[in-house]
Amino acid sequence: MKLIALSFDDGETADRFWAERLRFYGLHASFALCCGFLGQSGVLADGRRWQKTSAEEMRATYRGFELCSHGFYHRDFTALTARGLRRELRGDVRAIARYGGQKVRTAVYPGGRSDARAAAVLRACGFVCARTAEPSYSVAPPADLLRFAPSCHLLDPAAPRLLAALEGAEGDAVLSLYAHSYELAGEGARAAAEALLAALARARGARSVSLGEAARLLRAAKDVPRGDGQYDG
Ligand SMILES: [Zn+2]
Repeated sequence: MKLIALSFDDGETADRFWAERLRFYGLHASFALCCGFLGQSGVLADGRRWQKTSAEEMRATYRGFELCSHGFYHRDFTALTARGLRRELRGDVRAIARYGGQKVRTAVYPGGRSDARAAAVLRACGFVCARTAEPSYSVAPPADLLRFAPSCHLLDPAAPRLLAALEGAEGDAVLSLYAHSYELAGEGARAAAEALLAALARARGARSVSLGEAARLLRAAKDVPRGDGQYDG
């Protein structure tokens, strides 16, 4: 089983353009939202303008894609109490159910920061998968789905090599690529992202899935009993 799991973080309005491109290529993906900022905009310290998808736009923008919790206020999961983390998750779960019509079972750690304690809270809250941001530069299935390191960033020069590794893999393999849609603006970045999406769509024997679907399939593959008894007719 070879899986391609794409995910896009932060829920900005630039997601709409890339959701359309993903539909064009027939690729699945997950989008991680921080619903405490729905419809809001502002300017970051580095001067970048940000604008989040609104509650009203959520359903149409992300039609056909999985929505994940990215923390209601994008707070560092590892710096919160268990109670605080549950509140961050609950805010997204409720908003996504209400405005996106989806039951949330997956998350992306804000800032990519994860630890065993946060993973345990996520698991106890019924989450099946949570992605970090530290690249593994590997297509090996993750040891822990609640601390799922991506293979690399979508625009990482290593991405084509990892796609080749996925296509050539003998056993189960997963290519997990992440990005923020606003990073894919500008001619060079846009062309590079388009070229990679086209290559992913052509990948031999690979299936494009959401993070939740990847988790389900990887777990099912792990649960297949391997016979080691002796057949005696
Ligand atoms: Zn983020």
